[in-house]
Amino acid sequence: MSAASISSAPVLVWFRQDLRLADNPALAAALASTRPIVCVFVLDDEAPGAWRRGAASRWWLHHSLGALSRDIAQRGAGLVLRRGSAAKIIPRLAAEIGAGLVVWSRQYEPWATARDSAIKAALKRAGVAAESFNSALLVEPWELKPASGGTFFKVYSPFWRAALARGGPPAAILAPSKLLSFDPMPAGDALSDWRLAPVKPDWAAGFSSHWTPGETGAHQRLAAFLRSEAVGYGELRNRPDLPATSRLSPHLHFGEISPGAIWRAAHLARAQGGVPDGDVAKLIAEIGWREFSNHLLFHAPTLPEENWRARFNAFPWREDSDLIEAWRRGQTGYPIVDAGMRQLWATGWMHNRVRMITASFLIKHLMTHWRVGADWFWDTLVDADLANNAASWQWVAGTGADAAPYFRIFNPVTQGEKFDPNGAYVRRWAPELAGLDARAIHQPWTAAPFDLAAAGVTLGKTYPKPIIDHAAARARALAAFETVKSAA
Ligand code: FAD
Repeated sequence: MSAASISSAPVLVWFRQDLRLADNPALAAALASTRPIVCVFVLDDEAPGAWRRGAASRWWLHHSLGALSRDIAQRGAGLVLRRGSAAKIIPRLAAEIGAGLVVWSRQYEPWATARDSAIKAALKRAGVAAESFNSALLVEPWELKPASGGTFFKVYSPFWRAALARGGPPAAILAPSKLLSFDPMPAGDALSDWRLAPVKPDWAAGFSSHWTPGETGAHQRLAAFLRSEAVGYGELRNRPDLPATSRLSPHLHFGEISPGAIWRAAHLARAQGGVPDGDVAKLIAEIGWREFSNHLLFHAPTLPEENWRARFNAFPWREDSDLIEAWRRGQTGYPIVDAGMRQLWATGWMHNRVRMITASFLIKHLMTHWRVGADWFWDTLVDADLANNAASWQWVAGTGADAAPYFRIFNPVTQGEKFDPNGAYVRRWAPELAGLDARAIHQPWTAAPFDLAAAGVTLGKTYPKPIIDHAAARARALAAFETVKSAA
């Protein structure tokens, strides 16, 4: 390509997990070139080692792409949709439009980094410039190294201290009001042809009343949270019965909002006296766990598949398909566990405290390998995220970096009593128990027959008896742990 044609050649903007127009440095670089742009999204299930999105995540993607297409169209351009191997499609599309530059936002999953490096090299060989940007994280995984030595942090607290020492995020980048579209726009698929959202049976029918995927929905959610839910976050974020957390996780996963935008808005809310210091710091510290998970996954790419602590490789896991199915369907007989699993199925999301309780129950009470649970979450969560999901499951299992010790086994009854003190969460998601009082609702098998009858509960019929006895399960798990405790 000649120098003259390069300078007027269009820019290919490859959207991936940055489905937004504001605070998007890749898009901003394309616009700064003043050349016409082509926006593309590739549904790539073919990259070697790729984690194919789960069903709930595909539902979200469908709606998020719809929102992004509309936002781009309103500004005078279009979003081209293509399906297949991005390693083939991106260089081919760049050639088709005579692109001088291809830009994208970086991802950190091992399969994505390998694919993207190969694409960058292929574009360069073809004489097309390629530039990638950080739009997903406050700190990229290679930017922090422990002063004490080693290539990366394995413990959250020093990681997060080092991250905070770098100061806040860069200034906001406003969404463009106009996009200069390349003409003719290349052909693409119709979103509906991808069938990302279920048709029949429409198991996601209830999702839309809980979520508004897309950049506008993300900012509305953040504003609502800071306006009326964030005060007390530090203390109340463990309460699944209250709307006390941001529910921004799917928006963050799909890059509909940047962590920097949340940081800036939260600090503004603090400065205006709306949200106390401590609550803002705690919210940002939780976002820090997302940063830490990405840091771990980047440096330890086997995190989604292998125990971080190798001694657990010899752990005597069990695999009882009936028990696993009871867990998945929210039929364990432990109300807080069942409420959580049903919230997940009905809405594609589960409160963090309940994620910990349900995960602990599967891993420790049922002694099921954490990967079985991680796979179910991967398929059913709208915020399914390789780094967060893998790091969190390994954290609960005690197999991970900076993890909760294996011997800390949650008692589902006392967890329910502590974090859902009036039983409102259980009543909402396990309505067949709604007539029980706050004490009995977390352990219906201890209720007097008269109280059960008055509440319309028949154990074993309208609600299951516990599928396993807590004390016996706990003892069994601890005994199993003894067998690997001393291994390296
Ligand atoms: P808030 O409390 O409002 O926190 C704000 C943001 O911080 C979240 O949106 C999220 O991006 C981040 N965050 C909060 N807690 C954590 C955490 N423990 N680890 C990493 N990031 C965090 N989160 C996912 O985004 N995707 C997953 O696939 C996922 N799988 C999980 C599996 C298990 C077993 C457990 C215990 C946790 C998992 N989490 C996952 C972390 C956490 O439960 C969710 O991020 C959180 O519940 C999202 O709700 P929120 O947006 O209201 O969180």
